Amino acid sequence: MRTRYDAIVVGSGISGGWAAKELTERGLQVLLLEAGGPIDPATDYVEHVQAWEMPFRGWGDRAKIEREQPIQKDCYACDEWSGKFFVNDLENPYTTPEDKPFSWIRGRQVGGRSITWGRQVYRWSDLDFGANAKDGHGVDWPIRYADIAPWYDHVERFIGVSGLAEGLDQLPDGQFLPPMQFRCAETHVRERLARAFGRERVLTIGRCAILTADHLGRKACHYCGPCERGCITRSYFSSINATLPAAAATGRLTLRPWSVVESIQYDGKRRRATGVRVIDANTFESIDFKARIIFLNASSLESTRILLNSKSREFPDGLGNTNGVLGHYLMDHSMGHGARGTIPGYEDHKSYGDRPNGIYLVRFRNVTDQHPDFVRGYAFQGGAWRSGWGRGSGMKGFGADFKQSLITDQGPWGMSLYGFGECLPRHDNFVELDAEQTDKWGIPALRINCSYGENEQAQWKDMIHTATEMLEAAGATDIKETNETVSPGLVIHEMGTARMGRDPKTSILNGHNQVWDVPNLFVTDGACMASSANQNPSITYMALTARAASHAVDLMKRREL
Ligand SMILES: Cc1cc2nc3c(=O)[nH]c(=O)nc-3n(C[C@H](O)[C@H](O)[C@H](O)COP(=O)(O)OP(=O)(O)OC[C@H]3O[C@@H](n4cnc5c(N)ncnc54)[C@H](O)[C@@H]3O)c2cc1C
Ligand code: SF4
Repeated sequence: MRTRYDAIVVGSGISGGWAAKELTERGLQVLLLEAGGPIDPATDYVEHVQAWEMPFRGWGDRAKIEREQPIQKDCYACDEWSGKFFVNDLENPYTTPEDKPFSWIRGRQVGGRSITWGRQVYRWSDLDFGANAKDGHGVDWPIRYADIAPWYDHVERFIGVSGLAEGLDQLPDGQFLPPMQFRCAETHVRERLARAFGRERVLTIGRCAILTADHLGRKACHYCGPCERGCITRSYFSSINATLPAAAATGRLTLRPWSVVESIQYDGKRRRATGVRVIDANTFESIDFKARIIFLNASSLESTRILLNSKSREFPDGLGNTNGVLGHYLMDHSMGHGARGTIPGYEDHKSYGDRPNGIYLVRFRNVTDQHPDFVRGYAFQGGAWRSGWGRGSGMKGFGADFKQSLITDQGPWGMSLYGFGECLPRHDNFVELDAEQTDKWGIPALRINCSYGENEQAQWKDMIHTATEMLEAAGATDIKETNETVSPGLVIHEMGTARMGRDPKTSILNGHNQVWDVPNLFVTDGACMASSANQNPSITYMALTARAASHAVDLMKRREL
């Protein structure tokens, strides 16, 4: 196998797939290095396999899961079907202080977490890109919405996003395919909220990277439901379903699975990264690959781990880390606070198919005014459902009539709203290399120090209050507050630790995701984020990646890299 390429991309997940596609389409020979194994949709996707066809009827081999995936199993999507798309925690350890648990949910295979992700995609606005500058938490973003908007367009046109245009400044509209339909109870709540709060509180259908019409050779969704198990019709966006085939079609992609990148090599004389050192995941052999530019897309914390582990005379504390910022300002969103209730009526209506999407209640706090207790904001996700089979465990009955009534008579409509809150960038939320722990390949593991702060906690209180208030306004009954704090990491939007900024003294990356001190090294996954906003972040990683790839190739053409 050749060892010299124009570009190396590390990681084949959501952002790495985009780097590979954009760089190959711009004419570069690209080596895509992926730590995990290959995926064959024909045999590995299992969304249509039924519980009775599974060895453990969907419950999983619980002793094995407890032993090998004690952390991953806490993710709702890690079950007997899709557990294979989540890492083995024994082989991929990390440590935390005892009083600061962190749930690091990862996928290690071609496609990364793009196979299991929830596909919710929301643009950021200037409210988000300007937030750090406005309230002084974190450093100012080096870009604004106008810089990234064309790249959101570019990404959305390719991945296919279904959604409803709402014309709200804080949640810009995009290049939408037709929206998925509301359920009747959701339409009811949307209309009641509009009556009570006007355009201040807008409930819209989730914007998601799932096709509602055939698109670029991929088929429209048929509402089978369990997307985290794969999608043989390629109806939702994943690297395997979309970006990797596009990159391969150029004839310029070399994908090497089972390639664990251990570090990046650096030439101090030229001030350039020269290549990467890989440990073959199966043979443990060490191999060096060279390239003119390198894109790090191993996921937020893995990319930072590689940088921290890339030590040289010039950078004894990690590549590009001249200011001690690398590893700091880790963020995740917060989740688990809101309310649910019963929506009376509509009992002659039921939903058909398993819509793989919910509703989105757009941020309304600190948009035009300022809340006295906290900065930044939150949005709600959730949806309406009709209780069915599951309610049987709480009902009294016996025999054939009882079973029949469970099938024919569904329960009332329920509606839930759960908050996704913005997390502030704080210096004391950080990762470092653990002094003793290593992974299966002998690479130092991370020690993760992360907790939510006072601002997030103040938001949680308000989420519960406003969710209850809105369900009341919608005429819901039997309203119950949801107050379940989950440990950071479990929202699976971990980001930051190699942030972008305007000043090399306080950030690791410039406005085009280049490491300030190593301009041919780009970090375009979530590590680059200077703040977290409250929107699901992956579409912003994709747009930043496409933007950085275009910039990199321009610089190469001008012989500046
Ligand atoms: C259940 C679930 C639901 C989610 N829902 C949403 C959602 O609705 N919306 C949203 O925006 N986000 C969601 N996310 C988060 C989303 O999946 C991530 O933000 C996204 O995948 C990050 O992309 P990435 O390219 O940085 O990393 P990943 O997609 O994780 O890919 C990283 C890749 O790098 C590889 N890698 C790691 N280390 C190395 C190494 N040393 N050498 C070589 N390769 C390496 C990994 O094996 C992996 O394939 C969800 C995640 C999960 C698990
Ligand atoms: S619900 Fe739609 S997107 Fe999800 S797996 Fe089924 S067909 Fe694919």
